[in-house]
This record gives sequence, structure tokens and C-alpha cells, in this order.
Amino acid sequence: MLSKVLKSRSIRSSTQKLMRYKTTLSLSSTTTSYPTQHTTAQDEPYFTPSFIDNKFVKSDSTEWFDIHDPATNNVVSKVPQSTDAELEEAIASAHKAFPSWRDTSIIKRQGVAFKFAALLRENMDRIASVIVLEQGKTFVDAQGDVTRGLQVAEAACNITNDLKAESLEVSTDMETKMVREPLGVVASICPFNFPAMVPLWSLPLILVTGNTAVIKPSERVPGAAMIICELAAQAGVPPGVINIVHGKHATVNKLIEDPRIKALTFVGGDKAGKYIYEKGSALGKRVQANLGAKNHLVVLPDAPKQQFINALNGAAFGAAGQRCMAISVLVTVGKTREWIEDVAKDASKLITGSGFDKSSDLGPLINPESLTKAESIIEDSVKAGANLVLDGRGFRPDDAKFAKGNFLAPTILTGIKPGMRAYDEEIFAPVLSVVNVDTIDEAIELINNNPYGNGVSLFTQSGAYAQYFTKRIDVGQVGINVPIPVPLPMFSFTGSRGSFLGDLNFYGKAGITFLTKPKTITAAWKVQSIADDEILKPSTSMPIQQ
Ligand code: NAD
Repeated sequence: MLSKVLKSRSIRSSTQKLMRYKTTLSLSSTTTSYPTQHTTAQDEPYFTPSFIDNKFVKSDSTEWFDIHDPATNNVVSKVPQSTDAELEEAIASAHKAFPSWRDTSIIKRQGVAFKFAALLRENMDRIASVIVLEQGKTFVDAQGDVTRGLQVAEAACNITNDLKAESLEVSTDMETKMVREPLGVVASICPFNFPAMVPLWSLPLILVTGNTAVIKPSERVPGAAMIICELAAQAGVPPGVINIVHGKHATVNKLIEDPRIKALTFVGGDKAGKYIYEKGSALGKRVQANLGAKNHLVVLPDAPKQQFINALNGAAFGAAGQRCMAISVLVTVGKTREWIEDVAKDASKLITGSGFDKSSDLGPLINPESLTKAESIIEDSVKAGANLVLDGRGFRPDDAKFAKGNFLAPTILTGIKPGMRAYDEEIFAPVLSVVNVDTIDEAIELINNNPYGNGVSLFTQSGAYAQYFTKRIDVGQVGINVPIPVPLPMFSFTGSRGSFLGDLNFYGKAGITFLTKPKTITAAWKVQSIADDEILKPSTSMPIQQ
């Protein structure tokens, strides 16, 4: 159980003993021993350590944030606001480790990446179980969270091909070679909704490109990232190459401002993302920031109805709608508006409950504030004229231990229009807003006028309509009969417009380009000069190297 993670060393020990633990802490969950059920209110919470120099370190902080199990609202663990000294220690550790990691041969870094990927696969259920406990999603969905991260780690093993230099003999006996070199220390600031996948969107590539990392997991779900770092160390990542710090704004500000940090990767909401992007860019750092979203699914009358309904309900209500690529708006074109009754009938059959319960299709929301926000958006939208065709408010699983959980069952609002809160705001909950239009052009106009550009999906059997749609739609990730079109990591996560700030997206070629800087080396070894014994005269004109 997670509350026993401090192994035999009790958190009730004296301060003196805690100091001693700085070098001896370890995670108590293992590949074969991890939580499989919810804790009780009486269980002692686990104090999340930091990870510095490949050691789990108990924080000296006086400020600790409670982490609640979203299904019960029991406190399962606590996470510190890392102290100034701990932040300094982590950044200094990453900075110190950089030169020797950069100079470690690529074949060795690749070897570590292979081992890391294998360990992630081996520990998948362990990581997933901690995600269920801290984040609330269902176990099978949490396995998907780990798998999508693992896929990036596996793709990173191809670095010996991806980082090959370009070279050309640009002039007789003169060659230019372009290599890409690592930047230095990269900070990664992560959201709550994908506790494993998002740290793994950047970490494997940070490692194989020869950078070092300071990661700040979401203060709501740090457990998965802790295990991931333990596995990286087991795979052979040297001390200092990966570090984890915790906390809220103070931690983020330090990561933005410290001159030793050369790049920031951020995934999360608009407010934090804009702040980090603007402040980091102004300080001359590279920043990539994935932000919020409002993803539409457009259905044309020729779409296979049941296939569409199944895909829609999975994408709208899976993970309790807490995916940045969740479908939150259904755009019915023409007579497909008549299909809503069947959509609602099937959505009502989805089971909301504990993530550890195999029969659950969706778990709770992350916290009571998210539940209250979703409920108020539903209420305001109904007041503004929307129809509540499926109302998931007030839902509670039968078991009394979930009486205080943040549950919202699938909810569907029809008659939605821009200007209503349900359309204008990211709800991040299992709430589907339905907008009716008469033509595909109206659907395209609606979506292109929405400020976000993360994902969109079209369901049709017409290749011509699909072609028409993909060429006109201004959204970064387009699915045709695919409801959540997130590319696998041989491509990049290409959210656009209001959903992304920066020039280079996460993972894939763009991810490697983001994490490296180009260097050209032009060398002349004149064969001719051996024969002619030629000595070049000084030339003050611009060299054109013909
Ligand atoms: P969040 O913005 O609240 O938090 C993200 C991170 O930023 C956390 O580590 C948090 O500690 C930090 N943070 C929060 N407010 C801050 C502030 N004012 N200053 C500095 N740092 C701050 O996001 P969240 O609630 O954890 O995650 C949900 C959001 O993330 C949703 O909007 C979702 O769409 C988005 N998201 C986007 C993607 C994507 O790829 N586009 C993927 C996952 C999540």
C-alpha cells in the first residue's frame, strides 16, 4: 500500500532520524508489490520524497500539500513545497552531471534507453496502480497512460539514427558537417491528468540527446514520476542526470529564472502555460508549452451510426473527460441530430466508479473544485437555454466508502451555442456539449473560430468529404473515423493555435530538434596542397569556397 512506501522507516521518526534518511529512503512499492485498493481514512499518508543525485530525499520543508484519493477524498500522500536549498541542490546536480552525460557515447546512452524502456514495461502495473490511487482513472486507462509514455521511451532508442549528422563536401577538399548538440539542463513541468505519459513525453528524449533534467510533476499526482525516476536510475542513468523537485508556483518560478536551465517543457492549463512561455522566452530560454483544448467531433449522415456512437462515448467520457484530447463537443451535421437519443442511451450505460473496480468505465474527477466547476457550467448553460439530455450530477457509487468521491457520471447537453459556458470553457469533465449545424462548411467555420486547436475528428464514409475537411480545418491533430488522433511518437504531438505555444512540438523529430542545437563544422584538408606545396595568400574578400 502506498502509505507504507517509506518501508520500515516511519514518518513519525524524529527530525534527527529523518535527516539520516536523506541517503536511505526508498519507494516501498516494487514491481510485484503495489496498491490494489483504496486506503482508509486511518492509513498513514506517504510523504513523497524528492529525487536528487539518484537518491530519494526526504524534504526538510515545513509546507506539505495533501494528495487526496479522488474516489474517497482520503489523504493518501503528501508532497512538499521543495525548499530553496532543495531546488538549488537539484538544479546544481543536473548542471554538474551535464558535461559527462553529454560526453557519454551515444551508443551507451542508447543502451540505457533500451533498459529504461524494458523496466517501464516490467513496472507498468505498479505505475498504473499509483496513478489510480492519486489520479482516479481506471486501472486499464492508467495502463494506457503508461503505455503512451513507454512508446516515447521505445522510440527514443532510435536516437542513433535520429541524431545522425549531415555532411557534405561543399567545396573541393572542404567538408561541412552539421551535428546537433544537447542544450544543458531542461526543466519539465507536468499536469495532473497523465502522471506517467507526460513526464515520458520529454524525459526519454532529454536523456538520449545528452541533456539532463529537473522534473516537476503535478503536485496532485507525483507518485508515477517517482517510480519512473527510480527505473531510470536502475537502467543506468548516472546520478544528477534526472532530478525531481516538487511544489507549486515557487518551484516553477525558480525553474524559469535559474540561468542554468536552458529549456522548459510545459504541459498544462492556459494560465500557467502562457505565464511560463512568456517569462521563459523573455529570459532567452527555449519553451514548448502544450495548453488547454476544446476538441470537436463532427459526424456526417453517412457515418456508420453504432461505430460512431461507441467511438464518441469512449472519447468523451473515458478518463472522466480529463484528457486534453477528450471529445468535449459533438457537432451533428443535418439529420444526425436525431442520433443523440441513442448516444445518450449508450452513455447512460457507462459505469462510473472506483478505478480499481474492473467494471468501471470512468473514475472520479481529480478534486471537489473540478466537480463544482463542472456542475456550475452545466447549470449556467441550462439557464442559458441548453437541454440536459443526460444528467450525471449527484451520482454516487453504491459502496459507502465512495460517498465523498468527486463523481460525475456522463452528462450530455444539447442546443449548445458559442457564448454558452459549456462551449466557451474547457470543462475537463465527462460533459459532452452538442452543437447542431446543417452543413460541413458550418462545422468547419465553427471549429476554426474556436480559439483552441488541439484535436478534431470527422466521422464519415466519404473520402471526398474527408479530404475536403482535412484541407480546410485549422486544427493540429485531425482524425478521420479516429476519435482521439494523438500520433504515435514516430510523429509529434501537433496541437496548434490556442493549444500550443512555441515552435517545436513534443516528441518525434520536432522533440529532438527542440532539445538540441545545431553546430556546423567546416574543415578543409586540401589534397592538392600536398602535390603543389601550395601556400594560400591572405585574402580579405568574403570567402565563397568555390
Ligand atoms: P495546471 O496548469 O493547473 O498545472 C500544470 C502544471 O503547472 C503543474 O505542475 C502546476 O503545479 C503548475 N502551475 C499551475 N498553475 C501555475 C501558475 N499559475 N504558475 C506556475 N505554475 C503553475 O494544469 P492541470 O490542471 O494540472 O492539467 C490540466 C490542464 O492541462 C488542462 O487544461 C488540459 O487541457 C491541459 N493538458 C494539455 C495537454 C496538451 O497536450 N495540450 C495535455 C495534458 C493536459
